[in-house]
Amino acid sequence: MPIQPAQHFIDGEYTEGALGKRFETINPTTGEVITTVAEGFAEDIERAVEAAYRAFHEGPWQTMTTKERAAVMNRIADGLVAHGDELAYLETIDTGLPISQARGQAARAAENFRFFARKAEEMTGETYPVDGAFLNYTLRRPVGVAGLITPWNTPLMLATWKIAPCLATGNTAVLKPAEWSPLTATKLAQILHEAGVPKGVFNVVHGFGETAGAALVRHPLVNLISFTGETTTGEEIMRNGASTLKRFSMELGGKSPILVFADADLDRALDAAVFGLFSLNGERCTASSRLFVERSIQAEFEERLAARVANIRVGNPLDPETEVGPLIHRQHFERVQDYIRLGTEEGATCAVGGPSPANQVGNIVRPTLFTKVDNQMRIAQEEIFGPVLVTIPFDTEEEAIRLANDIRYGLAAYVWTNDLTRAHRVSAQIQSGMVWINSQNVRDLRTPFGGSKYSGIGREGGHYSFEFYTELKTIHVALGHHPIPKFGMNPPTEGGNNHGR
Ligand code: NAD
Repeated sequence: MPIQPAQHFIDGEYTEGALGKRFETINPTTGEVITTVAEGFAEDIERAVEAAYRAFHEGPWQTMTTKERAAVMNRIADGLVAHGDELAYLETIDTGLPISQARGQAARAAENFRFFARKAEEMTGETYPVDGAFLNYTLRRPVGVAGLITPWNTPLMLATWKIAPCLATGNTAVLKPAEWSPLTATKLAQILHEAGVPKGVFNVVHGFGETAGAALVRHPLVNLISFTGETTTGEEIMRNGASTLKRFSMELGGKSPILVFADADLDRALDAAVFGLFSLNGERCTASSRLFVERSIQAEFEERLAARVANIRVGNPLDPETEVGPLIHRQHFERVQDYIRLGTEEGATCAVGGPSPANQVGNIVRPTLFTKVDNQMRIAQEEIFGPVLVTIPFDTEEEAIRLANDIRYGLAAYVWTNDLTRAHRVSAQIQSGMVWINSQNVRDLRTPFGGSKYSGIGREGGHYSFEFYTELKTIHVALGHHPIPKFGMNPPTEGGNNHGR
């Protein structure tokens, strides 16, 4: 299927960039150019932000009833379902995500809109009656123009995770998608437009982080930035947004532990360990990339793990049977290759996988398992963001917690044990924004999502998204005649005033 060149979407129309430049998006399976993409710069961001600002202040979006907005949001969800196959196909050829998983992500994108449409209708405030003298209450109002900056892993789903609560609460938005995965964001603009989103409410500007992204962050008319990406990029964005006092939500990197105790259901723990790291090609922020296993079961568990990892179906991501596809980009592929070589240099044992053959076409990385890993090794501490799992043994519960916490990140954690009290004890002590007990990464959209430490700031999901995308306003209403001090009622003094007394 030929893919049209991708354009920006500004003020309700697809458009070329102001400077007329384009960049290529590459198929990670073949290394061939899929199409070209309009490259945005500060001039394009300016146009998009102005359109979003006008739409916020003058357009009907903010003044519509919540029900009317929810109806549009539900039509967007319908559009996402109707175009689900095309979206999954675009995501797969653009990112290498296996098609069966891309279909799941497209369905989840639709659910994001339905969920936040419902949730916005349930939005309430608080009242503070003050002894019959006052009635104070809170209102949630939209903040204004949101800058949404997204990464290349599951780009469609992650964009909708931001767009849905942002629009449901009456804000307008400029999306800057990742430069390695522009296709589904381009299609999304059409779906939103056809669902009845008024012009200027949703805009897309393609381009690179240092140019288009940075211009969005620095723009004085942008009130809030929701960012998902690498920790170091998040730091840079906060520096750049400081002088215009942006509100930030930061969903950043991770290196999440999975703790397997000897008393766990080891069959299910094994399934979860393999899926938790190797799904989404290992390019998953909440990937369970550090496996801590109790020493008494280590040998047996690692042996079974190795057999499963060696058996993962790797290949063409358009094949519905494929479990792991190619990594997004040659540059990222090389980075992951470097980590695989580093693991061996650091003294770990490469039990399965290893470096890909030289001159291989496409960005397939062999699913790789390192054993005999020390927690201080770089492969145990740094986010690899690919299909590379490390295992580390522990002897006691205390040691497991200490090792799991001995890292800069704190996004997710997974605990496998059938000891009820230990499960809760350990979960409470692990430093992470989220913990799953005896579970793979199953999300309930009502729950807060986000990380601690270097994995992020703030939470999105459920009503927590509204805390970010709305301004909380307090209204104070006097119900009677409370005392008001009468300044300026004293008789005038000599010289006409009493300054200095
Ligand atoms: P990245 O930080 O390189 O890029 C993310 C986005 O930021 C891109 O759109 C990029 O163009 C833009 N950007 C880069 N520099 C910028 C700047 N100076 N100003 C403004 N924008 C800028 O991340 P990536 O490589 O695309 O994504 C992978 C990372 O995302 C991993 O670290 C992963 O853990 C993280 N991630 C986190 C979550 C989460 O919810 N915590 C979810 C998914 C991915």
